Amino acid sequence: MAIGTWEDLQKLYEGAGGFAHCHWCGDGACETAIQEKTKVTIRNLPFGRDETPGTCVHCGKDSIGRVVFAQAY
Ligand SMILES: [Zn+2]
Repeated sequence: MAIGTWEDLQKLYEGAGGFAHCHWCGDGACETAIQEKTKVTIRNLPFGRDETPGTCVHCGKDSIGRVVFAQAY
């Protein structure tokens, strides 16, 4: 599912979990912070990435497109 805000992302992973399509800035420090807060990992898709510009769901910096977030097992 497409997630647009940090609040929605946290709600998803406090509840049902699963996969989320989110804008992400590409910054490794931001990825680490997301992992620590939600226990999800970021999976870049080699194909089919949506390259619509947006803002990072976590820090609000520019994003070149959505990536897939998924819970670590
Ligand atoms: Zn970010």
